[in-house]
Amino acid sequence: MKTKLILHYHLLQIFFFLYLLHFTNSSQDPSSAIISRFQEYLQINTSQPSPDYKKATAFLLSQAQSLSLESQTFELAKNKPIVLLKWPGSNPHLPSILLYSHTDVVPSEPEKWSHHPFGAHLDSEGNIFARGSQDMKCVGMQYLEAIRKLKAGGFQPVRTVYLAFAADEEIGGHDGAEKFAESDIFKNLNVGIVLDEGLPSPNENYRAFYAEKGAWWLAIKAKGAPGHGAKLYDNSAMENLYKSIESVRRFRASQFDLVKAGLKGEGEVISVNIVYLKAGTPSPTGFVMNLQPSEAEAGLDIRVPPTADAEALERRIAEEWAPASRNMTFEVLIIL
Ligand SMILES: [Zn+2]
Repeated sequence: MKTKLILHYHLLQIFFFLYLLHFTNSSQDPSSAIISRFQEYLQINTSQPSPDYKKATAFLLSQAQSLSLESQTFELAKNKPIVLLKWPGSNPHLPSILLYSHTDVVPSEPEKWSHHPFGAHLDSEGNIFARGSQDMKCVGMQYLEAIRKLKAGGFQPVRTVYLAFAADEEIGGHDGAEKFAESDIFKNLNVGIVLDEGLPSPNENYRAFYAEKGAWWLAIKAKGAPGHGAKLYDNSAMENLYKSIESVRRFRASQFDLVKAGLKGEGEVISVNIVYLKAGTPSPTGFVMNLQPSEAEAGLDIRVPPTADAEALERRIAEEWAPASRNMTFEVLIIL
C-alpha cells in the first residue's frame, strides 16, 4: 500500500482524553521530589504541531547534569533535537542498552479538561492530570529516576546505558527515531537491546512487550451524484459511505466480541475506529440542509497485530469498506 504522509493532528484530538497517572506515597520523600521533577517535565508544552523542544531539551540536560550523565544534543532534522545521555558501563566493549523515549505529545483541547493539560495538577488522591503523563513522559522520567536510584545505591552497570529522548514520534517519527536509527551516531552506540514505549504501570510490575500493533490510518471516500434533499436516490455519496460505515461497524463488533468473550486478548485482534466524518455543503449558517452532497468521507484508525492477515485486511478495505462498485476510493494517510 502506498503511504502518503499526511498528518491529521485534529484527528488525534478525538481519541485522546485525560491521562491519569496514579502515584502512591506522594507526600513522602524522595517520592515528592520525583513527582516534582515529573510535573516539571509535564509542564513543558511539547504538543504537536509546535512542540517546545528547546525547553524539553534544557530540562533533560539539567536532569543529566544532576545525575552526572554524559550528554549530547544533536539535530538530524532542523529544530528536532535528540538528547542522548550516556552512563558508561564497566565493559564498554559489550553491546549497550538503549532506553528510548519521545518528548512530543499529541494535541489537546484544554477547555475540555478538568485541569489544564500542561498544569500537571496533582490532586489529593495522587492523580496527576497532564497531556503526556502516560504517553510517554512517565517512561522517560522512569528511566532517569531508576538511574538516580541505582546510582545512589552505588550500582555501576557492566554495559553502557544510553538514554535517547527524540522528537516527532506523534507525527510518525520520520525526523526523530527514523533518522536516528539510520545515523552513524546510532550505529556507533553498538546497541544490543532497546527499551521503547510501553504501558505505564500503577504498581511495581513493569510489563514488557516484544511486539506492537501497526497503525493504518486511512480515509475512505464516496462519490455520487448530488441530489435534492427531498428525494430518495440510489448511489448517493452519503448512502455509499453509510454502507461502508455499517460494514466497518460490524467488523469492529466481531473483533471486540472475541475480546469480550475472553477468546482473544486486546492485542490479538484488529481494532478499527471511525475517527472523523466529513461531508456536507457548507452554508453561511452551517450546512445546506436540502442538498445531498456529492462527496463524503470517513477517517479510520485501524490497528493491526503482527499476527493478523494483512492481505485479507487490504482486501476487506478494497472490497467492503471502499469498493469501486460503490464509487468509493481509499487513501492511506499513514502506516506506522
Ligand atoms: Zn508515544
